[in-house]
Amino acid sequence: MQNDPVEHLITLLSRLPGLGRRSARRAVLKMLMDPADRMLPLAEALNAAAAAVRPCTTCGNLDTQTPCHICADPHRDHSLVCVVEGVADLWALERAHTHRGTYHVLGGLLSALGGTGPDDLSITPLLRRIETDRIEEIILALPATVDGATTSHYLTDRLKPTNTPITRLAQGVPIGGALAVLDDGTLAAAFKARRPL
Ligand code: ZN
Repeated sequence: MQNDPVEHLITLLSRLPGLGRRSARRAVLKMLMDPADRMLPLAEALNAAAAAVRPCTTCGNLDTQTPCHICADPHRDHSLVCVVEGVADLWALERAHTHRGTYHVLGGLLSALGGTGPDDLSITPLLRRIETDRIEEIILALPATVDGATTSHYLTDRLKPTNTPITRLAQGVPIGGALAVLDDGTLAAAFKARRPL
């Protein structure tokens, strides 16, 4: 079965996030029913994306140009840098249309268990950007997890000598969320982060 191209394709697809072996098999079957229309254009698109997309040398975003479209955009506020764990978070923030500044992708989080240390993340390039660009605020948009909190603390310590103001995203009640169904941690964070009206 190892040389079977269909099984091979299912195996490759099932390694992608959100696609188990069962959904990979369904996708492959659907493609095989109309290869000219569903399979060959996909193969071409995969080839084109793999050849054209690369990480931005400034922020780490994935784009067809470097510096990426965000870093190269003169209409964005380059003094406002939002630090994220990965490109998926950057894209999510872009979809929300709320951040008018630029980004910095860390490429992961500090993790004692996972064996990820400061040198594995894009921290030195961030410090270099602070030295060379006129950055007036660093926004830490890291996940509300143990590793996210550890990374936020570490970055706050490392950035302190630069005297750059640091903020982080608020934690609390989601839009449309009822209080009674929130977990204790979220409810406590929302209570602590209350603001005057
Ligand atoms: Zn960039």
